Amino acid sequence: MIPSEFQYYRAGSVKEALDLLSEKGPDAKILAGGHSLLPAMKLRFNNPAVLIDISSIPDLCYIREEEGHLIVGAGTTHAELAASQLIGDSIPMLAETAATIGDLQVRNKGTIGGSLAHADPAADWPAGLLAADAEIVITGASGSRAVAVVDFFKGLFTTDLSESEIITEIRVPRPPGNTLSTYLKFEQPASRFAIVGCAVMVTRNNGACENVRVAFTGVSATPFRDNGVEQALEGKSPDAVTVAAASAKAAANVEVMGDHFASQDYRRHLARVFAKRALTAVTS
Ligand code: FAD
Repeated sequence: MIPSEFQYYRAGSVKEALDLLSEKGPDAKILAGGHSLLPAMKLRFNNPAVLIDISSIPDLCYIREEEGHLIVGAGTTHAELAASQLIGDSIPMLAETAATIGDLQVRNKGTIGGSLAHADPAADWPAGLLAADAEIVITGASGSRAVAVVDFFKGLFTTDLSESEIITEIRVPRPPGNTLSTYLKFEQPASRFAIVGCAVMVTRNNGACENVRVAFTGVSATPFRDNGVEQALEGKSPDAVTVAAASAKAAANVEVMGDHFASQDYRRHLARVFAKRALTAVTS
């Protein structure tokens, strides 16, 4: 459980971190909370020759509102997000997500940017951020670009991020007032990673459901928006029969994972159960 030898640099700014990334090349890795990278290094799954620690960069730690968006610095910890009144009041689902991650130690050190960059298929953040229609701001030597969360995840532990870029910010549009959201998961009992996690956001207009967004994590190699469930509820009045029929469509069009925690069939069943619970919670 001892990692191979590495050089350690602590960056004081995003520019310094980017300069170090370009100087040290592909053997260098960003270190944020270390709660995914360090276990992987101890198991020798990952052996970077250089670590660039971004955890003390003040410019990466903030939660604020700007032009109708909630803006979160990539270095903000899960605990800071769980405790944020702005997040809790504006999009409760995101505060709920943060609070369900791991244990206190994990939440105190782990960051939202680190979780997104790591792209663990069982990570919690992707579902909530997909349902909230968020964007990820990625910064490299030539400037910043914004990528919709729906385009960011490319596969198992694979994202749109290049080796010379850093996630710097997450931008979440503030939903209209008559919007409800929740995140529910069936969790692995030791780590609390999501075996199946379902985030939903629904706006109500004269009783009908609008802008229905349903997203899953844990179900397949890549987190996804479930258009089948969304379309079955969009524009409809959410009575119990409609919600049950919509939930029954969950995970119908994805390749569901099976492992020692849950078989494919059981995971698909859980996706339907958790879609129904989450939709019922926000529509009844
Ligand atoms: P690090 O471990 O420092 O880095 C992870 C990866 O992301 C590395 O490849 C690193 O180079 C890269 N990286 C980090 N920050 C950036 C950035 N800003 N830009 C570009 N690349 C970056 N997660 C859950 O979602 N749910 C859980 O229930 C859960 N339970 C856990 C239980 C335990 C015991 C542990 C150890 C972890 C658990 N986690 C869980 C994972 C946890 O949330 C991690 O904190 C998170 O996945 C990674 O964030 P980090 O800041 O620690 O990143």
